[in-house]
Amino acid sequence: MPATPRNESNPATNSVANSDLQQQLLQIQHRFADSIWRSFIIIILIGVPLSVSRSLMSGWLPIYTLHLAYGLLIILIALNTKRLSLQMKSSLLLFTFWLIGVPGIFTFGMASPGVWWLVVSCLVAHVLYSIKVAIGLALLTLVTLSLIAFGFVSGLLQLQVDANLYLQQASSWATYIIVNSVMFYVVIRALLSYNEASKVTTKHQFRQWIDDLPLGVLVRDKNGQPYYQNHAATSMLGPLLHPDASGNDKVVISGTELPYPPQDMPGMRALRGETCIVDDIEIIKDGQRRQLQAWGRPGYNAEGELAYGIASFQDITERKRLALLKDQFVSTVSHELRTPLTSIRGALGLILGNTVGEPPAKMMNMLQIANQNSQRLLRIVNDILDLQKIEANQLEYHFQPVDLAQLLHDAVQELASYADAHQVNFHVTVTAPDTTLSADPDRMMQVLANLMSNAAKFSPANSSVSLHLEQTNPDQLRLTVTDQGLGIPDSFKTRIFQPFSQSDAADNRARGGTGLGLTISKAIVEKHGGQIRYVSAAGEGSSFIIDLPRHQQNGHETPHL
Ligand code: ADP
Repeated sequence: MPATPRNESNPATNSVANSDLQQQLLQIQHRFADSIWRSFIIIILIGVPLSVSRSLMSGWLPIYTLHLAYGLLIILIALNTKRLSLQMKSSLLLFTFWLIGVPGIFTFGMASPGVWWLVVSCLVAHVLYSIKVAIGLALLTLVTLSLIAFGFVSGLLQLQVDANLYLQQASSWATYIIVNSVMFYVVIRALLSYNEASKVTTKHQFRQWIDDLPLGVLVRDKNGQPYYQNHAATSMLGPLLHPDASGNDKVVISGTELPYPPQDMPGMRALRGETCIVDDIEIIKDGQRRQLQAWGRPGYNAEGELAYGIASFQDITERKRLALLKDQFVSTVSHELRTPLTSIRGALGLILGNTVGEPPAKMMNMLQIANQNSQRLLRIVNDILDLQKIEANQLEYHFQPVDLAQLLHDAVQELASYADAHQVNFHVTVTAPDTTLSADPDRMMQVLANLMSNAAKFSPANSSVSLHLEQTNPDQLRLTVTDQGLGIPDSFKTRIFQPFSQSDAADNRARGGTGLGLTISKAIVEKHGGQIRYVSAAGEGSSFIIDLPRHQQNGHETPHL
């Protein structure tokens, strides 16, 4: 029999699960042993009268008297198997196999079907006991058969009957056929029982693994009724699993009191063939609210028909709480930093503009450094605040008709001093016949400034950055910002649009920046219905390409979130 599964992680539930499996395996063994005993009744009922008739004809009275005695004993046991323990009926079964097999071999020699009784007893032992017992019995069979064979060969043993005489009788053939048919049945039945036990064990093992997952798993049948749920699902959802659950416990849309539409639950969507992931489910249980993230996946039967809706879910209350805390912290700190920073920058601007008198020449250098760094710090704080708003989907967009070529020229002007500082010049070419599109000009300027400042920052001195605006089709404009700089190393390519990522290239960090510009630019471009990508090889410069639709898909140009 397949080994009983073991799992140390959760002893309490596992011992229940294991005893459940053992119970099922025990039943299979009982059914097997009972069926063999019943099949013996057939042999006895047909075989023994035949034997008796033969004893009268052949005169082998002692042998057939023995048959009669065996027969009565076996019937007695076979009719009482229900009262016997598995141990008892299994031992008696193996004993019977040998009781029939060994005398048969002594009587008719090594060609007797008795040999097979011994061999099949090993298979039966495997089903009723274990592989170890089966192997032990196989060794015993081998030794027994060898000894008997040696006995015959050496003349120590003599055949008890004349086999020719035996074979002449039709009743002998009949007995032979019946007995061997039953043997055949025993072999098939043993294989089937073994197969059944293997299936039960495998199924049980999978069940146990899923049962003990920390993730809730809920499977619904075709009618939407709960078909299976693991321990985590039961403890998370409990009575909520049933649609007619009453009381104060309920499933709602996150942050509201509105009941979650049952047909939108991931398990139900899965039953419509959808694969989905949602994190807006909230359960109210015992007065406590818990937020869930859930996945839905359709389950198919062997015929490929949709038969189950599988939902798995986890409690993300703590994760959401921490994310909220982090966001609140970052936003508070950033806001608190921005106000004094803006005043510092304003004050420095006034000093550098000589509004409060001309500062001494020695001080100018320091003041300029202070001014540049306060500007940089303000940019970082603003980027962090923008990123936060993007993540919370709270960044405001004011769409209106914008001339992108004009915006590009404005950006060149705005970044002129930055380009000078990096000894780079911007070269604009416009081939699009019409350069207007619907966009938020401030946000679009943010994207241009970021791409252009990156291009300038990573370019060698005295090189040129080209800004090319073209029309790819009547409904789409393409802007390509190409530099002759460092290029983007392959190892960095998968991370470039992720927040706070900067390449590990030797002097990257020394060039300043936060690693937020491209993340924000990508989000803004995508909010405009566009796409951003780049073509680059390390050492060969980079081209950042933005494709922008002329019109917004939702068709309105009024402010929206
Ligand atoms: P920041 O420039 O503030 O570091 P970005 O998100 O704009 O942040 O860029 C992230 C990183 O991508 C940069 O630090 C740099 O490593 C790489 N990168 C961006 N643009 C270029 C470019 N034109 N050439 C080479 N590397 C670039």
